Amino acid sequence: MDIDFNKLTNLQNLDEEIKQTTLILEKIPLQLKNIDINIETQFQAITQAQDKLAQNQKKRRTLESDTQDIKAHIDKYKHQLGGVKTNKEYSALLKEIEEAQSKIDQKEEEIISEMLNADDIGEEIQKAESKANEAKEKLSKDKEALILKKKELEEKNKELTLKKEALIPLIPKEQSKLYLEIFKTKNGIPLSPVIDDFCSMCQIRIRPQVLNELKAETQIILCENCGRILYIKKKSS
Ligand SMILES: [Zn+2]
Repeated sequence: MDIDFNKLTNLQNLDEEIKQTTLILEKIPLQLKNIDINIETQFQAITQAQDKLAQNQKKRRTLESDTQDIKAHIDKYKHQLGGVKTNKEYSALLKEIEEAQSKIDQKEEEIISEMLNADDIGEEIQKAESKANEAKEKLSKDKEALILKKKELEEKNKELTLKKEALIPLIPKEQSKLYLEIFKTKNGIPLSPVIDDFCSMCQIRIRPQVLNELKAETQIILCENCGRILYIKKKSS
């Protein structure tokens, strides 16, 4: 019986293409997930800046309430001034008032500094927002493209599988059976072309007698070394 190596190599080519598209398909879910994480990270930067602003506002409120407390003390001291009997008491109270006032000055400086910080944080929030929105727009497009690619590859895989299913019955059963057996053990590559008298998969030299038998194309011959189905590669035109 003549061996139709064209059909066998076509089968291997189909299997090879299915393998390649499957490999790409398998990576897509992780790529999609990474895009989502990337978008999320961009929006976290906004939340972080907003938290910073909240902290700033809290600090300012504390400073303002501290200032109010000290002002209340000063009012109390001023009230006490009217009732003092001695110069010593009087100057002691003045000193208290002076110290309290300098504390207020210090707090007010801090308040101004925190207000300036708030302006910076406000800008930071705006920048983070526009950056996140820009990134989201771009990444969403990447995601759409990837989903489209996934669909196309799934479609392609379906077509390849149909072609394969149509081809297998055209190959004599014992040949396709052998092909499938070697397919499983040889990492999906059951055929090896002989190029310049060598098995191209394992690089062993093929004996002249085996070469002659191969040229006849009347029987399946396995490589003595790697166990794959050998065939003479026809010069491509
Ligand atoms: Zn070999």
